[in-house]
Amino acid sequence: MTHKPIYVTQPALPPLEEFIPYLQQIWENKILTNGGPFHQQFEQALADYLGVKYVCLFANATIALVTALQALRITGEVITTPYSFVATAHSLKWNGIQPIFVDIDPTTCNLDPAAIEAAITPQTTAIMPVHVYGNPCNVAEIQRIAENYNLKVIYDAAHSFGSRLDGISLCAYGDLSVLSFHATKVFNTFEGGAIICHDAKTKAHIDHLKNFGFVDETTVVAAGINGKMSEFNAAFGLLQLQYIDNYIEKRKLLAQLYFEHLSNVKGIKFINFPPEHSSNYSYFPILVESDYPLSRDQLYHTMKDQGIMGRRYFYPLISEFPMYRGLRSSKASNLMNAKAISDKVICLPIHVDLLEEDINRVIEVIKFYASKSN
Ligand SMILES: *Cc1c(COP(=O)(O)O)cnc(C)c1O
Repeated sequence: MTHKPIYVTQPALPPLEEFIPYLQQIWENKILTNGGPFHQQFEQALADYLGVKYVCLFANATIALVTALQALRITGEVITTPYSFVATAHSLKWNGIQPIFVDIDPTTCNLDPAAIEAAITPQTTAIMPVHVYGNPCNVAEIQRIAENYNLKVIYDAAHSFGSRLDGISLCAYGDLSVLSFHATKVFNTFEGGAIICHDAKTKAHIDHLKNFGFVDETTVVAAGINGKMSEFNAAFGLLQLQYIDNYIEKRKLLAQLYFEHLSNVKGIKFINFPPEHSSNYSYFPILVESDYPLSRDQLYHTMKDQGIMGRRYFYPLISEFPMYRGLRSSKASNLMNAKAISDKVICLPIHVDLLEEDINRVIEVIKFYASKSN
């Protein structure tokens, strides 16, 4: 029997007909970009939804990360995680900043505060943590370290749309937080991203930087870039906002099925979701331990052969890619927890178009091999 493939993710899309009126409006007023009406509405609607003061929309999160570092004039060394998508470290490299990789806490897969503190040198200017899988970093401890050593904190919050800690949006933390609205994320605008900031002056500075440094028709105050979000993406984002709570609710139901049916499978472990945290269920990572009859890669390929496309997020570690592996902080002995998790992890399919029977197929495969146990 052949099944349709089950992908790790698929973009959530609203009904097409609901987007047509937005397009008609764009065709009527012929404003396609440069902070048009949809851009303004979407920034306000996002700030309200997330409960934050200021949102600066971007074409994507990578340009937003690069710009965030420019906005705070970060130089020298920045402490970051090897357990993330490559864009985190690339944004440092594009600014001529040296990434300093430190190890993660194996229970959350986020930066270990003790390892951050141990890696600080006179050249350190900032910390760039990632809320991996939308699970919160130890934000209080990171804040304490930043204040003690006078460092900036820029969160890569690309996974965190809709995640909360004690009721507060994760992107409210840090000097700046960067969101991604890429097609594969929980909340998408096809492509897109945003910087969250906390005062009007910083917002104005970032808005100048994303528009070539223009302040008005004839004044350029910085060597800015073109990071603007178009009216198409902003209009689409406004429509998506009406559905995001449904999307997250649907993901939660699917995650609960995995939790329920895989929690007693020998050799399969979950990554901790702290109880006070409202997750966005953006990913469903499992760890394939040594007492599971198949290795991680054997399970990954077996699933793939049966049309179940899990992904090994994050394998390899960023520190293992050619442009980073020569750094002193990339040494395996510095990153033991990250390496161990990276060799065990598989993210299972989770997205709004999956049905209970799809999840059951994934569960069955994992259970089938578990029962072949020695
Ligand atoms: C997706 C992602 C990015 C990049 O986002 P884009 O919007 O695709 O540029 C950066 N960091 C992390 C952790 C991501 O998952």
